Amino acid sequence: MPDYMFLLESRLSPEQRAAMMRVQELSAALGFNVYLTGGTVRDLITGASLRDLDFTVEGNPSRIARELEKGGAKVLVEDEKLRQVELLFAGDCDGSISAARDDHYVRPGTRPEIRWSTIMEDLRRRDFSLNAIAISLNPASRGLLLDPTNGLSDVERAEVRALTIHSFTNQPVRLLRVLRFAARMGFKMEPRTQEWFDLAIERELHHTITPEDAGAELQAAAREERPAVVLKAWEEHDLLEAISPVLAKKHPGYEAIGRLMKVREDLFTAGFRPRLATPMLLAILGRLKDREQASLLTKVGFRSAESAAVLEFEEVALEAQKELLGRKMKAPIDAYRFLEKLPLDQMAYLMAESNKSAALSKIRAYLNKWRPIRLGLPGVAAQLEALGMPRGPKFDTVVEQVFALQLTGRGKTPEEREKILRKITGIKEQPKKKEKEKKPAKGTDKAHAAAAMGSAAKHKHAAAKADAKHAAKGKPAPAKPAAKHHAPAHRGKGALASKKRHGRK
Ligand code: ATP
Ligand code: MG
Repeated sequence: MPDYMFLLESRLSPEQRAAMMRVQELSAALGFNVYLTGGTVRDLITGASLRDLDFTVEGNPSRIARELEKGGAKVLVEDEKLRQVELLFAGDCDGSISAARDDHYVRPGTRPEIRWSTIMEDLRRRDFSLNAIAISLNPASRGLLLDPTNGLSDVERAEVRALTIHSFTNQPVRLLRVLRFAARMGFKMEPRTQEWFDLAIERELHHTITPEDAGAELQAAAREERPAVVLKAWEEHDLLEAISPVLAKKHPGYEAIGRLMKVREDLFTAGFRPRLATPMLLAILGRLKDREQASLLTKVGFRSAESAAVLEFEEVALEAQKELLGRKMKAPIDAYRFLEKLPLDQMAYLMAESNKSAALSKIRAYLNKWRPIRLGLPGVAAQLEALGMPRGPKFDTVVEQVFALQLTGRGKTPEEREKILRKITGIKEQPKKKEKEKKPAKGTDKAHAAAAMGSAAKHKHAAAKADAKHAAKGKPAPAKPAAKHHAPAHRGKGALASKKRHGRK
């Protein structure tokens, strides 16, 4: 048996791992058994990226949620009846904690009666075998895989298999789900599942999908890595109508979806993992008129605040763009500070949809130039420390000043940066011993040299002040002739100056 704990821990981000440890601890403290379940385990086994952490506890998760909140987690949705909590764990990772339950159907297709249960019963009531696998997080069996419906072998066969003949009758939304999983993973429906699916369509069960379930699937599609393949699968089976007849008639905005996907790749390359559900939903609904979008979202059960967040998204992003193009953003450091705080989904939306080249070039500079410089700032700090400045608030200010100068294209080489650091701080370079040896100074020469050094230092101090002032404003400091004049006073400095010229080529 593969070591699932090892597999899991090697695939989790540090934040996800911390969240898992915390849920494990809290469950143990409350005496609940806890398991990783659903999509998390499926994605782990299939090698897909672990987008969220789904936990199931044999008990009520609400106390765990309260404790997690104290540690910075945000509860997004809490369903007290179903004992289900969707949350954003500290460190911004998505997840859910649900009580293990059995859905008991008195007759197929009726509303199920909920019974709190063990993990095994919970796994058996799930939709498809590949979603019905769990990993134990309990001390005595940590890493043990629970697979009561043999989901692993379906994953190996690349098939989505429903767990009972009543699967689609009990929950017609599974018609959308089976296509979504199959399309996303490039899997086929298992032959008997396909028969049950066809029968359900023949019986027009898709017309009985509740609007709320349809809305949840629409949102799930917007969160997909490749929404287009899912939407196309729904369209091919004439199931998009179950979500919205208008959307089925006008079709999803595939071009806009494609543009956003491309942007997501660019953002990945720049080291970001943006959540694009809102702009993606807008892209999907892009061919609908504003009022059609609004009525669709209301129909599928979006609460008014949720609808507003989607419908006003474009306006908010355009407002941000206006600010980015404003006079206050002329200096790169100001644009940097603004873009650093701009939500990534708005940035992505602008990258995909804006026709303002000035805004786009600032965003591109932010991603491809400014951020890498920012990430290299510890190197500047190390350099400053090596020059002898102790760490502290003043130290940090100097580093920020250098950063502002770097954004204007200065300080590209370590030598240039050292020069800038010396100018800002006034830290003088130690005279080289060799020089002294070469020119054994006579008394008068010595005095002369000392006087020259003193004046160089004064100049440097003035230059440093000017530099600091400019850097603070995010402006490039003008060239300092004073420093140049005195450069020949030390051989070291002359070498720096020539390297600097080289570096600029
Ligand atoms: P995703 O990667 O899209 O989040 P997921 O499998 O985690 O996929 P969710 O909708 O988050 O899907 O649901 C979590 C788990 O709950 C599923 O893996 C499945 O086991 C179970 N589940 C969700 N919806 C249903 C349903 N309609 N019927 C039965 N089980 C369901
Ligand atoms: Mg999930």
